[in-house]
Amino acid sequence: MTVSKLAAHSSRCSITIGSPVDAIVSKYVDHLRALRYADDTIQHYLASLRHFTHRLNKRLTLADIDNALVTEFVDLHLPHCRCPRPCMRHVNTVRAALRHLLAVLKQEGLCNVGRPQLHTPVDVELELFRHYLVDSCGYAQTTCRNRLWHIRNFLDSVVGQEPVTADRLTSTDIENFTARCFKGRCHATRRSYCVDLASYLRFRGLHGDDTRALLAAIPKMAPPIPARLPIAMTDRELDLFFAAFDLTKPIGMRDFAIARCLSDLALRRMEVARLQLGSFDWPNGTVTLTHNKGGRERKLPLPVQTAHALVRYLQHGRPDTSNRAVFVRQIAPYDKPISAVAINHLVRAAFVRAGLGERFRGVHVLRRTAATRLIRGGASLKEVADVLGHRHLNTTTIYTGVDLDRLRKVAQPWPERQS
Ligand SMILES: [Zn+2]
Repeated sequence: MTVSKLAAHSSRCSITIGSPVDAIVSKYVDHLRALRYADDTIQHYLASLRHFTHRLNKRLTLADIDNALVTEFVDLHLPHCRCPRPCMRHVNTVRAALRHLLAVLKQEGLCNVGRPQLHTPVDVELELFRHYLVDSCGYAQTTCRNRLWHIRNFLDSVVGQEPVTADRLTSTDIENFTARCFKGRCHATRRSYCVDLASYLRFRGLHGDDTRALLAAIPKMAPPIPARLPIAMTDRELDLFFAAFDLTKPIGMRDFAIARCLSDLALRRMEVARLQLGSFDWPNGTVTLTHNKGGRERKLPLPVQTAHALVRYLQHGRPDTSNRAVFVRQIAPYDKPISAVAINHLVRAAFVRAGLGERFRGVHVLRRTAATRLIRGGASLKEVADVLGHRHLNTTTIYTGVDLDRLRKVAQPWPERQS
């Protein structure tokens, strides 16, 4: 179906003749076609727009459409939708359709989408804190989101609508807040509240506030003890896993190269998703990781098998794209890097194909396996920690499942770095 036919189809089927969204339907379709979406998908997205505009008909102008309105529609309206059928109610489809609508509105300069809505002093403070978490600490989006959510709860309860300054915060505020948050929560959640508060107070400290007394008021929580020793894959299981990729297809070449990066280089899935073409120094056989967890750059040697898998993918599997990310999407929207979630799915699917689906579920087992293999190969704990990008030795022992005291006797002295 051509663009004009799709747009005409949309306007014919539109329940809301004269809806302001109609004015940008053709731009919306152009946008989706530029991202090479299939015609069927475009139809589904247009159906989602019709549902959205029908629901909001009474009060909708283009300037009113923002993230909050979209979230309200997807999270609050859809689960209880009583609109006349047929209407598109598939949550993921509607969410994706409206995300593209926001993108088009932003492109056209028709609304304030994308600009953070900073209404209160707490909003402004959290925006600064978010920049610190992303730019200085290099945390993943999920980590930032959870941390900001905890700190928003804390600041809302303490300063309300007032300006945020450290002298407004007292040790009692910290004690009351943690006591309230701890009720009915497990150890891991309690600890995450404490870690998040400490992170925020360190951020205030960087702005010249004396937060030592406040930091001291945060309850000391021991790190979670793994319920059982972490499982690593055997050599046989690893072989089965690698054999589960179809190297005759572009997507198989991409997924295999991702799998090799995860298991040979012990990368986190976010680190794989963020690999750029410029991350590799091919003549010297190294890869440099930047913007990773903790914000520390790390350079790793590139094993031969990993390099072979990458070269095969880059030469024969990677689609034409202007994006500089190594691993890009093979389905619409094209020209975008693969997401960390997609990496999870493709690894999980390979486990199932290899007959290992019952035993292994997550991506992390590949990182643990790499660490265990390094230890078995005679690497010191410090060397393993360097490869994994760990700052603390204890974290590395959790990965490798080895006895810390026994290892301390054989490992190089650990130069504990200050954060
Ligand atoms: Zn509805």
